[in-house]
Amino acid sequence: MVQIQSVCKRFGEVEVLSDIDLSVATGEVCCLIGPSGAGKSTLIRCINHLEKINTGTIEVNGHLVGYARRNGQLHELTGREAARSREDTAMVFQHFNLFPHMTVLENITEAPIHVKKESRASAEAHAHALLDRVGLAGKARAYPGELSGGQKQRVAIARALAVRPKLLLFDEPTSALDPELVSEVLEVMRDLAREGQTMIVVTHEMGFAREVADKVAFMDQGRIVEYGSADDVLVRPRLERTRDFLARVL
Ligand code: ATP
Ligand code: MG
Repeated sequence: MVQIQSVCKRFGEVEVLSDIDLSVATGEVCCLIGPSGAGKSTLIRCINHLEKINTGTIEVNGHLVGYARRNGQLHELTGREAARSREDTAMVFQHFNLFPHMTVLENITEAPIHVKKESRASAEAHAHALLDRVGLAGKARAYPGELSGGQKQRVAIARALAVRPKLLLFDEPTSALDPELVSEVLEVMRDLAREGQTMIVVTHEMGFAREVADKVAFMDQGRIVEYGSADDVLVRPRLERTRDFLARVL
């Protein structure tokens, strides 16, 4: 589903992603862990083409993200073409990023109606089903400001699912939440994983990663330095660096 090959990303002179290779198979959950500044957010933003890569390629569901190959050369896509190249992907952010002036239902149906050109009736029916799935069936008419953090994040997940993404990206979805609200969001993510949704999740929730991740990538200083099953990386890490990091977060 996701093929990342030899990706480098610089901000000015600073290389923040160095030679990243990563594959995620359909139905797999891959957790990205690592210290602050390691490049975790930058990597998933590149997968969603919120950031441009300098070299390498990223393919999602068989399509190059942000670029097209013509006559053996890569050409950067812009506007509508670039938007189409990331249609298979949706993202959930740490700070929810809901539209505050729209109801929950409007937040969820915005992209299906305006980007995917779905009919309002079908988008709303799907939105109600998604709200039910994230445990918020009664909240369609509420505004984000009337919801708890955990409820906002569950709406954000429903909104991401509304475009029927092949790949779902999460950037520390529970880091902004009060501790008692974390589990309700992780529970929804666990269900999605069980249902076979392909996901890449940046997280500091090691319990979640251990339980749900098929693969874990430990990033440090712009590189994936250790990669393997959740047990390999989190329980029996090979590298001192990984052990140090885990000792600090656990
Ligand atoms: P955290 O755990 O704190 O969220 P992270 O692993 O997500 O960290 P990134 O946000 O990807 O790390 O940042 C990687 C590096 O890139 C950092 O050194 C950061 O300062 C730098 N960086 C990120 N975004 C930009 C930007 N827009 N311009 C310049 N440098 C940036
Ligand atoms: Mg980050």
